Amino acid sequence: MRTAPVNSVASIDQPSAASHLSIRNVTKVFPGKKGMFNKLSGKTKRDFVAVQDISLDIEPNTFVTIIGPSGCGKSTLLNMIAGLSPISGGEILLNGMPITGPGPDRGMVFQNYALMPWMTVEENLRFAVETVDLKISPKRRDRIIKEHIQLVGLTGAERKHPHELSGGMRQRVGIARALAINPQILLMDEPFGALDALTRGFLQDEVERIWEQERKTVIMITHSIEEALLLSDRIVMMTRGPAARVDEILEVPFPRPRNRETIEQHPAYHDLKAEMESHLFRETRAVEAARMGG
Ligand code: ADP
Ligand code: MG
Repeated sequence: MRTAPVNSVASIDQPSAASHLSIRNVTKVFPGKKGMFNKLSGKTKRDFVAVQDISLDIEPNTFVTIIGPSGCGKSTLLNMIAGLSPISGGEILLNGMPITGPGPDRGMVFQNYALMPWMTVEENLRFAVETVDLKISPKRRDRIIKEHIQLVGLTGAERKHPHELSGGMRQRVGIARALAINPQILLMDEPFGALDALTRGFLQDEVERIWEQERKTVIMITHSIEEALLLSDRIVMMTRGPAARVDEILEVPFPRPRNRETIEQHPAYHDLKAEMESHLFRETRAVEAARMGG
């Protein structure tokens, strides 16, 4: 049974609650090493255009997923939003200000968790909170940590180290840590990609529940059509690379709170699913054809 949470958890004060993200004509070029000659292909390595001319507006408090064939440039785009990878052309604006590097207004959840292995669950969160707010009082800090550990269902595991936790629990820490800094935008790069199907299902439900409570702007990359349909308000479908673009954006009309069973009953479910399947199939087949020299 779902329990409806009422109050939001304690959080760090951040300057603005709005989070309008505007991606304008963004291109990413990975430079080839000058004059590097590839003996196998007999060619000189050229610059590689990963994504080209991507424009996308992300409204505050929406859950957006990005889906596209493997290697098309999803992580490249997310890393530019995170400020972890420089933009080659165009700009990304957060509330009108260009993104030039990482910042506490964006929280990142990685597929491989990226926790500090020598720190306990509690210490991983404390480190993040103190990095963002140097002057936070210990009392407030501890309350934020406690409530976020509770939010992701890890109460009791505060003193454990990452190696003592299952993959699903580690990713709960990753999510708690990202949320504890109260970012305007939560960025998730295939957060459940390394988990078994059952754990993945549990965590998807948890993220749905947490999203109902927090209503953060979320941008999440996924390979899973079902996951995208369960969680998103909008689904951005990218074309294959090189020079990947946004192909189409789907609006997901299912009312919230959602669960797997109820959304499958919705009249739009099967059409949306079929559309995504055919997009992924077409793009992936073209990638394979190009690889075979077709
Ligand atoms: P996705 O996340 O959609 O699977 P990526 O964003 O990781 O794809 O990669 C997109 C393309 O950019 C791929 O062809 C990949 O090989 C290339 N790429 C990614 N990172 C680099 C890099 N640091 N240098 C050169 N090419 C890269
Ligand atoms: Mg990726």
